Amino acid sequence: MTRIVHQLSLNENCSPPLPGVREALLGSVDQVHLTLDALADGLAAELAGHLGVAAERVVAGAGSGALLQQFLAAHCGPGSEVVHTWPSFEMYPLLIRNAHARPVAVPAPDDRQDLAAVAAAVTPETKVVLLCNPNNPTGEVLGADRLRALLEALPPHVLVLVDEAYREFADPAAVADAVELAATDDRVVVVRTFSKSHGLLGLRVGYLVGAADVVAPVRRTTPFYRVPTVAQAAAVAALAAGPRMRRQCERVAAERDRVRAGLLELGFDVPPSGGNFLWLRLGARNQEFVAHLAEHGIAVRVLAGGAGVRVSTGTPEANDAVLRAAALFASAPA
Ligand code: PMP
Repeated sequence: MTRIVHQLSLNENCSPPLPGVREALLGSVDQVHLTLDALADGLAAELAGHLGVAAERVVAGAGSGALLQQFLAAHCGPGSEVVHTWPSFEMYPLLIRNAHARPVAVPAPDDRQDLAAVAAAVTPETKVVLLCNPNNPTGEVLGADRLRALLEALPPHVLVLVDEAYREFADPAAVADAVELAATDDRVVVVRTFSKSHGLLGLRVGYLVGAADVVAPVRRTTPFYRVPTVAQAAAVAALAAGPRMRRQCERVAAERDRVRAGLLELGFDVPPSGGNFLWLRLGARNQEFVAHLAEHGIAVRVLAGGAGVRVSTGTPEANDAVLRAAALFASAPA
């Protein structure tokens, strides 16, 4: 079997650590024996200052995955429903079931999410509408107008949880800022992560922002010491490196668009993406494409029950390898 040289199946960040992160990690090493900030309230306060919101509106946690789970556990329960679009992040149905709620998937025809259909799927049992923006794996970006129209169509008891794990890779002029929407609508809740744009995947840091009385029950479910002090220190440093983080994300977005243009030229069906990944629809040839890339040392994945193939954006070298392998695939007889 060919050795995998380019790991492009997990949406990892391909940029070097942000300036200050290494120093912050080393600087916090001498304190690992001390009892410090059990609920990462210092980091939450730092984030609140950065976002310009009250500290009681922010809770930090061990990555956005953990916070999604805490949020669903705090706000849903047996008999309740969570509406989400599909395809979307493959963990959503599992996280919803873990919270003893029922996932209600609203299909996205041609991978364009139908927010009117989302509103129509809401019942008195619906507690949460869960959206991923930009959407993993299709890359679709929801603008503020579409989210505002959805909010208008939803009854007052339904919370809208927006997962912005990939927000920094999208065009800032096109993608909604759910923290901004939350400032004027208490139903909006946002979850963000340091795993992607800030490159701290292995340290497990994320945060959730919303109205104080929506955030408070989530904070109560936060396990003590779950965000290690070294991870808190790294996150504060990464936050301070905002301009560099944005430049790195812009470079990744430019590479993503370069790969898309190359794939379109080769005849592939690839919608525009606001994430650090592309979504390829090859119909019956999805699995064959994944196997072909693996033969060329590139790992990518079929997702959403076989609906398409997601290709993460890597280094220019990795992206060139994708384009070369895709060209061979396109020129071979089906
Ligand atoms: N949301 C989305 C859409 C994701 O793709 C991921 C990770 N792949 C997560 C949340 C979880 O990320 P983390 O727990 O590392 O913050």
